Amino acid sequence: MGDRSASIRIGPISTCPFNCVYCQLGNIQCQTTQRQVFVSTEHIQRSLKRIDPATVDVVTLSGSGEPTLPLNLADIITCARAQLNRPVVILTSGALLGDRGEQPF
Ligand code: SF4
Repeated sequence: MGDRSASIRIGPISTCPFNCVYCQLGNIQCQTTQRQVFVSTEHIQRSLKRIDPATVDVVTLSGSGEPTLPLNLADIITCARAQLNRPVVILTSGALLGDRGEQPF
């Protein structure tokens, strides 16, 4: 795997189940475990279409907070893999990995 990453923000800024003292975001503005759709899958699909697959090695999903909060995460991963045919990396604390929500991932 190379080191060229296309970073896609799939959640709102500063939203996370935690409020770690060392967080690069500073004091978390919305501390929550409530999963919901923050950015529509269609919007992310349009963003992915602007990326040339030849220019990236991986797709990184981030949220400026916790990227497993979006309920449509499974759809987003499916879209990213289908459109770019690259591995998908999720920068997560893992706090919600046990929550299968409405759309398991
Ligand atoms: S889990 Fe990560 S994003 Fe959330 S508050 Fe801690 S360092 Fe920040």
